[in-house]
Parts: sequence; C-alpha cells; structure tokens
Amino acid sequence: MADVTADSAPATRTIDVEDPARGRTIGQIPVLDERAVQELATRGRMAQVGWNAMGFDARADVLHRSRRWLMANTDRMIKTICDETGKTYEDASLEVSIAAQSFRFWAKESERYLADEPISHFTPFTVGKKVVVRYEPVGLVGVVGPWNYPLVNAFCDCVPALMAGNAVVLKPSEVTPMTALLVQEMLDAAGMPADVFSVATGDGGTGGAVVDAADYVMFTGSTATGRKVMERAAKTLTPVSLELGGKDPMIVLADADLDRAANAAAYYGLLNSGQVCISIERVYVERAVHDEFVAKLVANVRELRQGVSDGPGVAEVGALTFAPQIDIVEAHVKDAVEQGAKVEIGGRRGAGPGRFFEPTVLTGVTHQMRCMREETFGPTIPVMAVEDAEEAIRMANDSEYGLQASVWTKDIARGEAIARRVEAGAVLVNDALLNYAVMGAPMGGWKSSGVGSRHGANGIRKYCKTQTVVSQRFALKKDLNMFPYTPLKSKLLGRVVKAAYDRKR
Ligand code: NAD
Repeated sequence: MADVTADSAPATRTIDVEDPARGRTIGQIPVLDERAVQELATRGRMAQVGWNAMGFDARADVLHRSRRWLMANTDRMIKTICDETGKTYEDASLEVSIAAQSFRFWAKESERYLADEPISHFTPFTVGKKVVVRYEPVGLVGVVGPWNYPLVNAFCDCVPALMAGNAVVLKPSEVTPMTALLVQEMLDAAGMPADVFSVATGDGGTGGAVVDAADYVMFTGSTATGRKVMERAAKTLTPVSLELGGKDPMIVLADADLDRAANAAAYYGLLNSGQVCISIERVYVERAVHDEFVAKLVANVRELRQGVSDGPGVAEVGALTFAPQIDIVEAHVKDAVEQGAKVEIGGRRGAGPGRFFEPTVLTGVTHQMRCMREETFGPTIPVMAVEDAEEAIRMANDSEYGLQASVWTKDIARGEAIARRVEAGAVLVNDALLNYAVMGAPMGGWKSSGVGSRHGANGIRKYCKTQTVVSQRFALKKDLNMFPYTPLKSKLLGRVVKAAYDRKR
C-alpha cells in the first residue's frame, strides 16, 4: 500500500477536554498554531473597520441580543460550564448572571466612557484654543483567559473591547475551551458580524501567538504566565493588562459579627472550590475571638455537601478543575501539618473518579507555611490568631500579592480606616468579592497581582488609543511666541508668564 503520510498536511494537534467531576473525557479541541492565529487576526482586522463604523447603538444592539440569547439558553450555558469545570450548578449560574450584567453594563455605559472629553486649560500659549481628547479603538484585542471562570474571566473582558469598536481573538484556557465555543455560537446568533470575534483554541503556544498578533493584550491567569506575557509583548511594544494571582486576606476583629464572618469565610473561601482569585485565601482573627470563630467556621464547613452537581441545590462544593491543582492543594496542607498546623476538618483528597479535595480548615498556621504565602487556589481556609489589628494588617501586607482583602468589624469607620492601610486593589468591610459586581469600580491587583484593571472607565479606555485634538478658534496672524524673536516681544511674553505664575496659589 502506498504511503500517503509523507505528502499529507500535518495533522492538527488536539487536546482532550475533561469533565473533572466525573473523571471522563468530553471532547477535543484543535491547537491553533501561529499561522492559524495570524489568519484569525488578519480577518479580525478587516472586519473591525465595519464593526467600528456601525457605532455604539448598533454594537449595543448585538450585546442586548446576546444577553437575551444567554437568558434563553441559560441551562445549556450552565451545563457547558459545569461539564468542563466540575463546578456546582450555582457557581456556574453566578457566571451567567455576571455575563448578562456585563452585556447590559457595557451596552449602556461605553458611549459615555468613550465620549470626546473637552479639556479645560489656561496657559499663556493656549489662549483661544479648543482641546479635546478622543478615543479610537486599538484594532485587534487579544484576550487570554484562565480555567476557573471560563465565561466571566475569559469572555467578559471581551465585551468592553468589542463595545469600543475592536475585533477580538479570545484564547480560552485549554482546560475549559467549550464555554468559549458556545459564546461564539451566542454572538453569531445575536448577529455579530463575521470575524469580529473569534476563538483561538489551544495551549500556551497559541496564547503566545495571540500576544504576537494583537494590538492590545488582556491576560488573566497566573503571575508566572503573566510575567512571560508581558515580556513577550514588550518585543512588539504591545500594551498589556494583567489580572493575576492573589492571596486574599480576611481580617476578623474581636468586635465582628462572628456568625456573619464565619458564614462568609466558609462561602468565599470555598466558593468554586476555592478556585477564585478574589476569594478568602487566609484568615487573621484577633486572639480573643479566635476559638469561637473557628468553632463556627468548622460547624459551617461540616454541613457542606461536595460532589457532582447536575442541578440546583445538589452540592455546595464541586471539583478541582485543573489536574495539577489537587497536588498543590495537598502539598500546602501537608507542608502546614508538618510544620505544626492542625487540620480542624477535611485535609484529604476525596474518593471516586472525579477530582475532589475535602473542604479544609487549618489552624495554628504561620507565615513560614506555603498555605499562607503561596496561592493555594483550592478548598482550604487557613486561620491564624493575631494579637490585634496592627498585627493583622502587618500580616495581610506581608505578601507578594495584593489583589483583594476584607476587614470584619461592627465599627465601620475603623474598618474603613484599616481597609486604607491594606495593600490590595479592593478591600471590603464586612463583605468579600462582591466589588466584582459593581462594574463601575475598577478591579485590579497591586504588587504581583497585576498590571492595570478591568471595569470602570479604564476597563474600556485601555482598549483605545487616545488622540488629543487642538484647534485654534480665534487666531492672530502671528502669535507672540512665533518668529522673529525681538526684545519687546520677549519682554512682553516674560510679563505674561509672570502674571500667570508669580502668585501665591
Ligand atoms: P495560567 O497562567 O496557567 O494560564 C492562563 C492562560 O494563559 C491559559 O489560557 C494558558 O493557555 C495561557 N498561557 C500559558 N502560557 C502562555 C504563554 N507563554 N503565553 C501566553 N499565554 C499563555 O493560569 P490558569 O492556571 O489558567 O488560571 C489560574 C490563575 O489565574 C490563578 O493564579 C488565578 O489567581 C488567576 N486568576 C486571576 C484573576 C484576576 O482577575 N486577577 C481571575 C481569575 C484567575
């Protein structure tokens, strides 16, 4: 038989997609290479011109239709998310609700954020000039996303980029690409013009190709990969926004409502099996209430059901989405125990074909332990007793990360004063995470947690180039600063400068 393989085109490499809760393969995706990504980018750039010319209202109409499609296909979207992440029905529903909010928010607010801005000015040289700053889409935005929230943390960053008039190539995580493919179907059904939005499935190599091809890179993922993305983007001077890892501290003061604090610690610490960047990753409790807080927290965790969640109200805690994550979680628990920490509840892998780790509370932890210094990104809540608020603030800030934090106290003014001393992009008093739902407020990390932010005015302006337009409205034949230089003109100009600036305020 003749060998045909030598002349055939090389087969596209594929990656298996897994259902981590059931431990089975649910599909395969192609790994797009550099050439395939370039092709999507070229088509995107061509389509972008018409999309931008459509204007805000017509683009908003596509978003509104997408939102209605999402509401009509909620069950399908939830199932797709659950199947590839192993998260619970409720955790997936949260994604749908935030995505719908994102469509509405950006459809409504984009034009206001990107309206021409008149700039007031008073200098001796600019009398009679009109100054306006305007926003122009960068062209092609590359969005590279993680696996923990395939709809929210990958796709929702595309929404303002699209509303600004850009084309977008989305590179979803290779672990959870199915949601992005369904998003493509949603946008097609909503009348998105062809090629304005495309999905580049694949691995880190595909992500690198997207960085090379884009005019702006929006990256969400680990700090380690974020560094590589920024380095690579530097080669083409492509601007980036990086939403990276966190080690979000919770500070519980002695006067806190301990029931609410313990409920919140269980929920935000274990939401999405702890695979949330803006969660509760470590807890500092004033010694006076430490034991009572831990007792309430452990009682809460004991009530939780973990397992496959194929409908509403079935389980509170789902699976670990990403295979290596369970080893990290286990290593952090083991390291803590070896250094003297106590496992109050949980602490082990679950049985079965799915990838589960028991919801875990650790006490007696220190800052020498990995669970307090590195991002665990799993269902663990390490709790440390502190002498007072000052020690809690010191410990909270003793971290390379600065994404999110919370302070728990009945004294709101004191809580807000402490919040201002915590090094994090968002600090909540008697709450956690929900700043994400306030889309007018920027969300982004300090220190190794990120560069730039999403949401708010910067959440869309970053996808634009600014252009300053200056026009002289009533003009002399020749301004004072123009040639030729004469003693009289120079003196006059000197007097004008003095009159303007030689005053107390
Ligand atoms: P990751 O860094 O491993 O991967 C993220 C994405 O980058 C994936 O799509 C991956 O294929 C791609 N990628 C990998 N190597 C690349 C390269 N060299 N160039 C370009 N792209 C590359 O992150 P992950 O494990 O998918 O996600 C978990 C991490 O994301 C956690 O650290 C979490 O805290 C963080 N995260 C942050 C936020 C935030 O808003 N700050 C939100 C969600 C998740």
